[in-house]
Amino acid sequence: MQYIMALDQGTTSSRCILFDKAGNLCTSVSREFRQIYPQPGWVEHDAVEIWNATLEVARAAMSKLGVEAGDIAAIGITNQRETTVVWDKDTGEPIANAIVWQCRRTSDIIDALVAQGHGDSIRQKTGLVPDAYFSGSKIKWLLDTVPGARRRAEAGKLLFGTIDTWLIWKLTGGRVHVTDYTNASRTMLFNIHTLQWDPELLALLDVPENMLPEVKPSSAVYGKSEFELLGGEIAIAGAAGDQQCALFGQCCFEPGTMKNTYGTGCFLLMNTGDTPVQSQNGLVTTIAAGTGDKPPYALEGSIFVAGAAIQWLRDELGILSSAGESLQYAEKVPDTAGAYVVPAFTGLGAPYWSQRARGAVVGITRGFSRAHLVRATLESLAYQTHDIVRAMERDAGIPITELKVDGGACANDFLMQFQADLIGSQVYRPRCIETTALGAAYLAGLAVGYWEDLEDVKRNWAVDRVFSPAMEEPRRRQLLHGWSKAVRCALLWAEDA
Ligand code: ADP
Repeated sequence: MQYIMALDQGTTSSRCILFDKAGNLCTSVSREFRQIYPQPGWVEHDAVEIWNATLEVARAAMSKLGVEAGDIAAIGITNQRETTVVWDKDTGEPIANAIVWQCRRTSDIIDALVAQGHGDSIRQKTGLVPDAYFSGSKIKWLLDTVPGARRRAEAGKLLFGTIDTWLIWKLTGGRVHVTDYTNASRTMLFNIHTLQWDPELLALLDVPENMLPEVKPSSAVYGKSEFELLGGEIAIAGAAGDQQCALFGQCCFEPGTMKNTYGTGCFLLMNTGDTPVQSQNGLVTTIAAGTGDKPPYALEGSIFVAGAAIQWLRDELGILSSAGESLQYAEKVPDTAGAYVVPAFTGLGAPYWSQRARGAVVGITRGFSRAHLVRATLESLAYQTHDIVRAMERDAGIPITELKVDGGACANDFLMQFQADLIGSQVYRPRCIETTALGAAYLAGLAVGYWEDLEDVKRNWAVDRVFSPAMEEPRRRQLLHGWSKAVRCALLWAEDA
């Protein structure tokens, strides 16, 4: 058997990639699906449409490459995290649209939990900052709001799943109801220390335990696909949330190794090994994908606006025709003429945590041009990443030696060089930047012996380019000092003075 199938079920599209043993991307097919916005701040997906899109891209990828089920050693799944589906155990019909991670409809439920003093215990047990992002409050909302749902759930008629669980259940014809540790760790119902659903949290959020999936390692044979779906039974052997898969696909297997994904936002994850490090700096503690029965842990920091700031230059300001063009502008000028952009369009995340901070462009003088603005905006991605890297170092007590990168904006050489300069460590851009799907493929392939062990997988990791720090220390310090003043301006805006 020559290939591993990765199903990459993201927030806006479903994708299927077939990888070979050397980790080469042999074919890729994707399909977008509908984003449903019933009210401001609400986001939904149709879980049936997601399933259909997934099946369609899987079949299309197989026929594009001319392969049959017998050529595929296993299927690995990676998914948008936290998105919540509840469906009828007998009919397989979702009781409502899936509530997407971005959806803010359950903020009041979270505020109430925090007001009742449960914040610390949630944080301690789950590693998460209590928030409407995570699945727990979304399940409660569905059971409280959809007519008859709570009664049906208590009678054992309904099942809950994140998207991995939903897809595995559909692929196995409703025979297997499982999730993996990484996805479970994003529900706000899972105790990351005992590795079990937490009875107290279930009670707090009124979630009946019988609707929850069994939790398994990220690399394990969960079941087989129904014969007629893909023309044969294929082992479903790996699953993990998208950011954890990217960490695994980047071969960040040892404590202290980390990756940053530069997409719409940025997601930094650092492997912390057997230790669940409780952050003192606003980071989240989460479970990482691993091959053993006991999973490793990770620290995670998110930046809300990263590549989205480049889209802002292109779409709202109209000063770029494409995101890629930002490189030419940035290289036209030697610096930003002393100015900074803080793209706090929706507040600031770790390590600042201000919901009401807003964007700022500060330090402008008469010579400030379009090129300076583009350069300062690009640099803001690197400054924000720098701040999280330093927070992670403080929390983990491990100095950063290298940063592996992926995501759309890591294609920008100027940005990567500036990143290396700021953090003072090497930045590694791999040849395959489809690390999320690759991580899912590795997890599945390792479970069925397609790859032997982690060393076998590591041999596939090939570097495209290494960016080494080259900036003089005084200059670096001066730039970072200016950035911290700029952040203070954005934070000051939140104050009602
Ligand atoms: P997502 O998965 O979040 O949709 P991607 O990983 O596809 O994001 O990356 C797309 C983002 O990266 C966009 O926000 C875009 O503005 C930014 N981007 C893409 N190419 C470049 C580039 N060459 N330079 C800077 N930003 C870029």
